Amino acid sequence: MRNDIVAFTERLVAVDTSPGRSTAPVVAALVEELGELGAHVTVQDGEHAGVAQRNLVARFGGDAAAGLVLAGHLDTVPWDASMRATTSAERDGRRLFGRGAVDMKGPIATQIEAVAATREALRRPVVLALTYAEEVGCHGALHLVQRPDLAGDLTGAVCLVGEPTGMRPIVEHKGYGVARVTFRGVPAHSSNPWKGADASAALGAFLVAMHRLREELAAEAPADSRHDPRGTVLNTGLVSAGTARNVVPDRGEVMLEFRPLPGIDLTAFRARVQRELDVAVAAASGTEATIDWFEDRPAFAQDAGVPFVAWLTERTALEPGVVPFYTEAEIFRGGLGIPTVVCGPGSIDQAHRVDESITFDELEAGVEFYADAVRSFCC
Ligand SMILES: [Zn+2]
Repeated sequence: MRNDIVAFTERLVAVDTSPGRSTAPVVAALVEELGELGAHVTVQDGEHAGVAQRNLVARFGGDAAAGLVLAGHLDTVPWDASMRATTSAERDGRRLFGRGAVDMKGPIATQIEAVAATREALRRPVVLALTYAEEVGCHGALHLVQRPDLAGDLTGAVCLVGEPTGMRPIVEHKGYGVARVTFRGVPAHSSNPWKGADASAALGAFLVAMHRLREELAAEAPADSRHDPRGTVLNTGLVSAGTARNVVPDRGEVMLEFRPLPGIDLTAFRARVQRELDVAVAAASGTEATIDWFEDRPAFAQDAGVPFVAWLTERTALEPGVVPFYTEAEIFRGGLGIPTVVCGPGSIDQAHRVDESITFDELEAGVEFYADAVRSFCC
């Protein structure tokens, strides 16, 4: 092995890429490292929340049609000095603690080591696609797939997203979306509420309707759904209304978050929410409301009948599964137009924790797994 995989993971963990930080420093370090390994490296400049960000695309083996794309995100969730998982990685026995150790600088290190170990034998190119701002909405991946030419010819290629799945091939997960619902009424002195239009009355009726819809969606889940929970879910996570206790509320807001099953007709879903909103507003005379839909992230569904999934099932000895969390997989599958599966070393249970960690064995198994994938699809 070129590098000690644990030491390499520690070096990546040491560069802070938590929210508000740029991926530029870690990309600069990797540009040098991957260049020395003979990669053709392209950096894509981006921006998120006012901070300059960078995606990195590295191509090994020339310009021909690639066989494999290995993808991952360079950013992490937040950390502070009170946690065990910081940018100063800590070894304890054969386990490495650090922010991003498992999600997903460790898996990225294993992808790079696997390519380093196999690059001399390439007959078809392999591409690394590393992104920014995944944890805050997959912004880097969405930016990257706007320029698929940066990855070069991917005809016939397959893509592995290296999120920690305990090396189980993942072929499905729910989508993600948010809607801000804004209510407006007419303020009045609270001693005579009939002189105003109470935005909180419309909001309240809408909340009741959304919780009824949540149960309806659960009841409508297909009997063969493997998701947990089985159906589309929604949450009314942020609710506010009014300006003072003695004023009839002239404003209100609900932030609605939903996680649609693959195959759900989103247009029909939105129309259903809109109908409930219309009913709620009609019941509170003089009020109005608008919905602003955003953060539209498609559900992931890879056809499990393709040879790529059969190879993964055989290699990992694990049946293709589903996960409850969101990944960049559908953005790559749809945006690059190639079969895509999420499969990486380490456990998602260790991710986002104050004591995030990965074991040395998981890292070593990751290198072996990705090297096998390169040999199968590029050699
Ligand atoms: Zn992740």
